[in-house]
Amino acid sequence: KVFLPTRRNARGFDLADSDDLALIEQARAQQRKHFLAEPIIAQPVSRTSSNWQVVTNPANPAEKVGDVLYATTEEVDQAIGAATPWAAPAAERADVLEHAAELYERDFGEILTIAAREAGKNLPDAVGELREAVDFLYYYAAQARQNDLKPRGRFACISPWNFPLAIFTGQIAGALAAGNAVLAKPAEQSPLMAAKGVALLHEAGVPLTALQLLPGDGTTVGAQLTCDSRIDGVAFTGGTNTARLIQQNLAKHCAPGTPFIAETGGLNAMVIDSTALHEQAVKDVIASAFQSAGQRCSALRCLYIQKEVYADFLTMLYGAMDELSIGNPWPLNTDIGPVIDAPAAASIQAYIDTAKADGRLLKQLDPPTTGHFIGPAVIGVNSIQDLAQEIFGPVLHVASYTADALDTVIKQINERGYGLTFGVHTRINERSTYLSEQIHAGNIYVNRNQIGAIVASQPFGGEGLSGTGPKAGGPHYLARFAAPQPATAPP
Ligand code: GLU
Repeated sequence: KVFLPTRRNARGFDLADSDDLALIEQARAQQRKHFLAEPIIAQPVSRTSSNWQVVTNPANPAEKVGDVLYATTEEVDQAIGAATPWAAPAAERADVLEHAAELYERDFGEILTIAAREAGKNLPDAVGELREAVDFLYYYAAQARQNDLKPRGRFACISPWNFPLAIFTGQIAGALAAGNAVLAKPAEQSPLMAAKGVALLHEAGVPLTALQLLPGDGTTVGAQLTCDSRIDGVAFTGGTNTARLIQQNLAKHCAPGTPFIAETGGLNAMVIDSTALHEQAVKDVIASAFQSAGQRCSALRCLYIQKEVYADFLTMLYGAMDELSIGNPWPLNTDIGPVIDAPAAASIQAYIDTAKADGRLLKQLDPPTTGHFIGPAVIGVNSIQDLAQEIFGPVLHVASYTADALDTVIKQINERGYGLTFGVHTRINERSTYLSEQIHAGNIYVNRNQIGAIVASQPFGGEGLSGTGPKAGGPHYLARFAAPQPATAPP
């Protein structure tokens, strides 16, 4: 009783060990070449849909990775009707989630392969993806054991393509740990990873009625789920505008106060002052802005550099950028893979082209010509207020500030209304403390990069336009999936 229950973590990989790397390579090479995703419904009607869509490799759009069958309106309706909260005791649910975590690790070769071929993830990002998914399973299982939770009922989990296993699994594991039935709607771009995750959760023992998979478009399947009065809660990660639409749907169709857990976008800033260690800051800026091709909502979008060091810092940054290798994420030396699809690539490049036409493009690397690649770019701005919206790609904005204007910088960042991540590089402790206290952000990083929150150690989630809370991977997450316990009056 004295000791907290031991929590397990993902075991991870040692990517610096050449023998392990060889085994990982072997496991990836053995994977079948073609993947399938279909709706998984507890009491299926005869299949009426023939709406198959092709899934291609973002690094090589001519390569077909698999096929996905979209759920029909009838199937979504059927799935909602069949959804039944998971009646097993909390300890049993926790056992099943922990078993699922083991199965995720067992099938690492297939998961790393899908992460590369469907989502364009290089090996370190793919490994991070698997580890985070496994951590969520273990963490929410441990939380379920410690808390007496009453399920709300049927949860729609609507997840993004940028963490196609980690966030997908985190939402589902949270809802299941609290005993809910889940209707999972993965992003259009990453149904194959979702199908793999659901297959493993079912294999581990999650009942079919407690977890159903509904691949499809946000405008059809997603809209239908969030407009159905039988839905008791929604967990969503994606764009701020989509979150607004979902909230409107819930307000119109569901009971007042239906829980809506949203993790949305960010316009994240970092401040580098004249005392910062440049070598370290360069490395952390590159990771924060360009790792995962900038496709993280935590990514650095606007870097404020103190005027005295602005030019020197940018010279070092450009030098380090020139060393980045951009291309097919499969080879082990690739730093930056593709962005997710053709529309994303076109809109990010159009944004960079506009900056170029305006004379604000300071640097862009040349990307490979086939595949949805964007060369990492640096754009000069006066302040974060020049950023009209979140550009979900490897685009870094830089602004200079004078030492006496730090409070103006704080005001500019806060006025933008987002509040997800913030980074600071300084060797003055009072300054990092002051900034951390003043900036409104859910996750603050001092003298390091500002991505890659770790389940349980750094619960992840923002405020304002960045989300509703509670933080994923934190102690309050499951409470939002649970119904209030009845209060018993004293005798
Ligand atoms: N949790 C991720 C990180 O800390 C970001 C999640 C997201 O992009 O939605 O980098």
